[in-house]
Amino acid sequence: MPLRDDQAGMSCSFCKLDLSSGRQVAAGRGAMICNECVEISREILQDKMSEN
Ligand SMILES: [Zn+2]
Repeated sequence: MPLRDDQAGMSCSFCKLDLSSGRQVAAGRGAMICNECVEISREILQDKMSEN
């Protein structure tokens, strides 16, 4: 799947992998995150919430 111009150079702020690795990268405010890091952070947050 070819990258669109506005996706070129986008890489995850956490794992530093970019779209060419096959990951989906979403841009937030001042940071970008890929689908893998979203999953990881979601699990971490769920663990933290279940601690309380
Ligand atoms: Zn990532």
